[in-house]
Amino acid sequence: MIETKKLDKIRRNNGGVDLNKNKSKLKIIPLGGLEQIGMNITVFEYEDDIVVVDCGIAFPEDEMLGIDLVIPDVNYLKMNQDKVRAIVLTHGHEDHIGALPYVLRQLNVPVYGTKLTIGLVENKLNEHKMLNDVKRTVVTPGQKIKLGDAFNIEFIRTNHSIPDPVALAIHTPAGGVVVHTGDFKVDYSPINGKPIDLQKFAELGKKGVLLLMADSTNAERPGYTQSESSVGRAFDDLFSNFKGKRIIVATFASNVDRVQQIIHAAGKYKRKVLVEGRSMVNVIGTAIELGYIKMPKKMMITFEELSQYREGQVVIITTGSQGEPLAALSRMAYDNHRHINIHENDKIIFSSKPIPGNEKSVSKVINTLFAKGAEVIFEDAHVSGHAYQEELKLIHTLVKPKYFIPIHGEVKHMRKHAELAENLGMKSDKITILAPGDVYEVNYRSAEVTGKITSDPIFVDGLGVGDVGNIVLRDRQKLSQDGLMTVVITVSKSTREVLAGPDIVSRGFVYVRESGDMMGEAREVVVKALEQCKRKNIRDWGGKMKTAMRDALRDFLWQQTKRNPMILPVIMEVDK
Ligand SMILES: [Zn+2]
Ligand SMILES: [Zn+2]
Repeated sequence: MIETKKLDKIRRNNGGVDLNKNKSKLKIIPLGGLEQIGMNITVFEYEDDIVVVDCGIAFPEDEMLGIDLVIPDVNYLKMNQDKVRAIVLTHGHEDHIGALPYVLRQLNVPVYGTKLTIGLVENKLNEHKMLNDVKRTVVTPGQKIKLGDAFNIEFIRTNHSIPDPVALAIHTPAGGVVVHTGDFKVDYSPINGKPIDLQKFAELGKKGVLLLMADSTNAERPGYTQSESSVGRAFDDLFSNFKGKRIIVATFASNVDRVQQIIHAAGKYKRKVLVEGRSMVNVIGTAIELGYIKMPKKMMITFEELSQYREGQVVIITTGSQGEPLAALSRMAYDNHRHINIHENDKIIFSSKPIPGNEKSVSKVINTLFAKGAEVIFEDAHVSGHAYQEELKLIHTLVKPKYFIPIHGEVKHMRKHAELAENLGMKSDKITILAPGDVYEVNYRSAEVTGKITSDPIFVDGLGVGDVGNIVLRDRQKLSQDGLMTVVITVSKSTREVLAGPDIVSRGFVYVRESGDMMGEAREVVVKALEQCKRKNIRDWGGKMKTAMRDALRDFLWQQTKRNPMILPVIMEVDK
């Protein structure tokens, strides 16, 4: 029996919750977002209530050939459909909202987010013709909402590389509060809006925080991130140096504050602004409409009006900062753009950093731009939107959590973040590095991983969702590496004899015209294999003979080339 005084103290430390009454634990299940940057989605479950935080996509990795995007597997949510109260969003980046149209189609629940976040969600739902089917609620930082019987969620203002980000204080009967930072940085002089609400973090810390889940993206970087406003000064310098030159700035469409600063610089140096790239036009349109970007109407021009101005009188803000082959800047670089040709008078500013994995395509675009005589500028025109080590330390120190889960990072980032927490005095047994699908259960007494659910990411290719799986991908990889060889044979339905062929067609394996001998020999190999079948009285065209041809050809090609193309026998049966 705990004495009253002690119990009072525990109650105070657990947000006033009577601990004796509540034995249930809060379950936390990340369905993605860990071991990678992308596809953030986390399930919070307490008894009969579930709240989902974020619903993002991941971009495909190099080996996921032909895949457009990757979305989370929400089977667990579908199985518990009647428990799910809402999806709560921390901010409007694709890795946090991108999967909403796909997930809401399977599971229609209300969505909560701040103004810009919901504005961007509405763009997305509109594109998928789902705007009328989904209930959206705009919340403001400082607001508290009740979801189901178990959840009270408070939105806390933070800073990031998109306006309107929030952290969440998730209150449940499990005792204490869970603080989820979302993606954040500490910016004392942000462009639009106010600095992160550090008082709120401190207040929660004082009352007692059960668990902290915090952004690990930059856990490897010492020091502090620079303020977004420092980029404005860099633009000012660059613009003043580039008088008479055409300026092209590539950045993320969603970095609304960055775009605002480019517009400020344009205004100061009397340049008109032209916006190019589908996502850039969409996001800036929404941001202007909702009041996140302020610019005089006359300042924005179209391609039709471009010829009325000298090159030194315009700045073009474009997508393509990640070297994406179809984005506007890449099209300009590779001469595929309808209106813009790159030349010596161009100053091209990359106001971005390549996301890991994109370095090669970015440097290819840069080299191409340089080769056309343009100057490409990288330095000082970008700051990160994710907290560096000193900012993480600040949040840990203010929040003083009992338990800690590093989130939003590759394994190395999460490990580094765990190490940082330990260096601040946290015991290692209070820190858990989760993997997607882990079921983590927590209350004031204990925290542990108690199970695992399957959550294999789902691939989206064109209109197909989930129809391309690992087997199809394996085929695509094989095809991309060694190509394809088809063997076509026409056989008689009645006599089972070969009427024509074998004809061999190759794609992506060798260029047939220059490999006449080998193709001839390959044909012979197939003929021999068929003769052998005949001798053994094997007449089963569909099964054994197909296999015999494939095996013989594979061995031959391997011997000749040490390559292993996909071999596709095609048997055509005709009535003859
Ligand atoms: Zn983000
Ligand atoms: Zn993110």
